[in-house]
Amino acid sequence: MSLDLHHRAVVADAHNDLLMAVAARPPERWGSFFRERWLPQLRAGGIDIQVLPVFIDEQYRPEGALRQTLRMIECAHVLAEENAEHVALCLDGADIDRALAENRIALVLALESAPGLDASVELFSTVHRLGVRIASIAHWGRTPLADGSREDATGSRLTAPGTLAVQEMERLGMLFDISHLGASGVAHVLELATRPLIATHSNARALRDHHRNLTDEQIRGVAATGGVVCVNFIPDFLTDDQAKVGVDRVVDHIEHIASVAGTDHVGLGADFVREVIADVTPPCCENTDGEDPHFDFPELEGPAGMPLVTEALLRRGLPEEDVLKVLGGNMRRLMAAHLGVRKEDLGVREEHLGVREGRTAVRDEHKAARTEGTAHAAR
Ligand SMILES: [Zn+2]
Repeated sequence: MSLDLHHRAVVADAHNDLLMAVAARPPERWGSFFRERWLPQLRAGGIDIQVLPVFIDEQYRPEGALRQTLRMIECAHVLAEENAEHVALCLDGADIDRALAENRIALVLALESAPGLDASVELFSTVHRLGVRIASIAHWGRTPLADGSREDATGSRLTAPGTLAVQEMERLGMLFDISHLGASGVAHVLELATRPLIATHSNARALRDHHRNLTDEQIRGVAATGGVVCVNFIPDFLTDDQAKVGVDRVVDHIEHIASVAGTDHVGLGADFVREVIADVTPPCCENTDGEDPHFDFPELEGPAGMPLVTEALLRRGLPEEDVLKVLGGNMRRLMAAHLGVRKEDLGVREEHLGVREGRTAVRDEHKAARTEGTAHAAR
């Protein structure tokens, strides 16, 4: 029954670094490696929409970052072309609809931080031309655009080019991803945003106090833009207690975000990083320091475990219509309205969808609450 619902649902995963694993192979193996190693898992997990972040590993930064960015974008195109009966690289909502109708997995390209672009904001347009539709502007540390959440102590807002990057992405129809961004940066982006924001892989700070997680106020802020917060399955971001690691803990975060922001603003961004690391680490180098930063999560280590989330949501008593929203309905709605839709074309699209008035009202309310908060802080 729950399996039936899962396979009927549109399931969207907003974060899987599998491109890292595929791009680590020689180019002539990209298509076949994806087909043999990842496609069966994505199919078993019933994944319909898969965001593919381009993450640039330390070894390429800073000098080789742009080349590796281009290489990974090329890798995404090649794996899609060589597996065209199973997947399609999608540039907008219409592409996604078409892929789903043909039972192909809709792939959406993203940048996880953008070290390859440095402070050259004009290059967001270039990567947009190459198919990128989502981007964040920092990872754990500092970039020319912003500070990542590990640098929260700096209290930094976005730099001037970081501010321009937000505007440029909004102009192009690229979703701005706040995952990894530092707290002051998130506040800054919430002030700047005129279009929905997304957190592709972030959890609730109220349940696990980690700088990578979002406070209730930040979650409400994303919801007020019309955006979606996608829950991360990495045990360290779910809990500090290994005994609590399990699919029910994932559901705790989903329920908390829903209770804070509403069921229209929660999604999934699994981040199956152990699977990816296993693919890129030679056996000789595993656990060299004897420490594993991530607890075990045996049942949910890869995409194939995704139906367990549906099962747990239903067990928890979430109504079917809400389960469908969390699994991917919310992400699909957001992508249909905004992915690849340029700002100049937005008015027409939004009037057609009849959403503009409601959202502006919510945002104004949020802005008023924030101004009040600032006034308090000043005193
Ligand atoms: Zn990440």
